[in-house]
Amino acid sequence: MAVTASLSEAARRELTGLGDRVTGPGDAGYDEARAVHNGMIDRHPGLIVSCASPAEVARTIAFGREHSVPIAVRGGGHNGGGLGTVDDGIVIDLSNMAEVVVDDDRQTVRVGGGCTWSQVDGATAEHGCVVPAGIISTTGVGGLTLGGGIGHLTRRFGLTIDNLVGADVVLADGSQVRASADENPDLFWALRGGGGNFGVVTTFEFRTHPLGATVMAGPTFWPMEQLPEVMRFYREFLPAQPQALNGFFASLTVPPVDLFPAELHMRKVAGIVWCIDGSEDEAADLLAPVHDVGTPLLHGVMAVPHPVLQSLFDALYVKGQQGYWRADFVNELPDDLIDIHLEWSQKLPSLASTMHLYPIDGAAHDVGPDDTAFSYRDSQWAEVIYGIDPDPARATEMRDWCVGYWDATHPYSAGGAYVNFMMDEGQERVRATYRGNYDRLARVKAQYDPDNVFRVNQNIRPQPGS
Ligand SMILES: Cc1cc2nc3c(=O)[nH]c(=O)nc-3n(C[C@H](O)[C@H](O)[C@H](O)COP(=O)(O)OP(=O)(O)OC[C@H]3O[C@@H](n4cnc5c(N)ncnc54)[C@H](O)[C@@H]3O)c2cc1C
Repeated sequence: MAVTASLSEAARRELTGLGDRVTGPGDAGYDEARAVHNGMIDRHPGLIVSCASPAEVARTIAFGREHSVPIAVRGGGHNGGGLGTVDDGIVIDLSNMAEVVVDDDRQTVRVGGGCTWSQVDGATAEHGCVVPAGIISTTGVGGLTLGGGIGHLTRRFGLTIDNLVGADVVLADGSQVRASADENPDLFWALRGGGGNFGVVTTFEFRTHPLGATVMAGPTFWPMEQLPEVMRFYREFLPAQPQALNGFFASLTVPPVDLFPAELHMRKVAGIVWCIDGSEDEAADLLAPVHDVGTPLLHGVMAVPHPVLQSLFDALYVKGQQGYWRADFVNELPDDLIDIHLEWSQKLPSLASTMHLYPIDGAAHDVGPDDTAFSYRDSQWAEVIYGIDPDPARATEMRDWCVGYWDATHPYSAGGAYVNFMMDEGQERVRATYRGNYDRLARVKAQYDPDNVFRVNQNIRPQPGS
């Protein structure tokens, strides 16, 4: 505590002008300021600096380097492994940098590095357009984008990074650069999947796509014991569909909310959550075969404004719950793997615990494995197994279920995992995730962050080229 207290005292002397945007241990609001989305993460930074400009980010980086303390960068604070914070070091909190400016003529949107997706979805919807993102509105644009970005519109418009056209970045030496296809193209390549390894992105610029006032979206649920039949259907059906149709597979417990019939509340089900960029008739045609699979308990596909769809799951995944997840990329769903999914899905340990298979084909396959840092372009699904409960006393139970499920299914995986669904799993796992792109990432890291200042992430170690 002595070290961290002296850090905040030094910050007050040296980071002049940041005033009450510097928070240290003992300050009112410290506990609130240090809290991240995952309640399992309980770190005590020496200092949290809420930066409001690239210049302030640069000054804070320089301060951290001078005092030889680790620096964490926080976008939305959603990272499962808690990579938006660090013990005894400095957190650069970007939540004050949350401007969103839509440019209708250029069909782009400029987004502050500390935005959450609700801020972006709300602004783009007003202009009749969209940037593909995830499935939760409270997630940070920063972390989600830098890791890839997978969600309801992935098959339609690609990963979030496939729609990134430029980024303003503060580098480890404090310089401010632009990364795009024409400026610092190596950095631009690395930012698209390489996480927060290369600098602090203060502004993202995305290409937007026109989107109607509503999409056709919602779930189909089946009794959990029908999971094998549903998953066998899903593995054939989904990849054969046009890109306008997305559907992620989910093992879940039906939440006890008015949206669902009371008789389904708290029932464990196998589900597919659909999102179709099309009319009601087009959705009905595309999904006609779904009604012949097993005996659906509910088919709740309806016209929904995109921002509403994006916030449907928010209440289930509120800040502060104990969450533990494991992930894999998956190419195939053979019958014996499906039996394992049934066994572990029947043991879902809490209301919000879940297993999701997100499609990463469609438009995401139009980009090659080494066109961006995101290597698994040949994979069919990004799987995540998520044990989550509000009660800290159940944290171990959540972890054990998650790890048990993952241990059983991992042998069938394609190897690596989506970086944004990883905990602290070690260097080999990071390498497995970037496959052939790892060595190039290590060279770009050596160029832009040779001292590994940005290491609170799925870390790529700097390795100069020979
Ligand atoms: C409930 C829940 C649902 C999710 N659903 C999805 C989903 O549908 N699709 C999906 O793709 N992912 C999803 N995720 C995963 C999410 O993408 C990651 O957790 C991601 O890391 C969150 O980004 P963040 O900015 O909120 O996180 P943070 O914890 O703030 O940051 C995560 C990492 O990104 C770095 N970082 C963040 N912003 C910047 C920046 N501006 N510049 C440089 N580095 C930065 C941080 O340093 C850190 O290493 C979900 C997460 C949760 C908890």
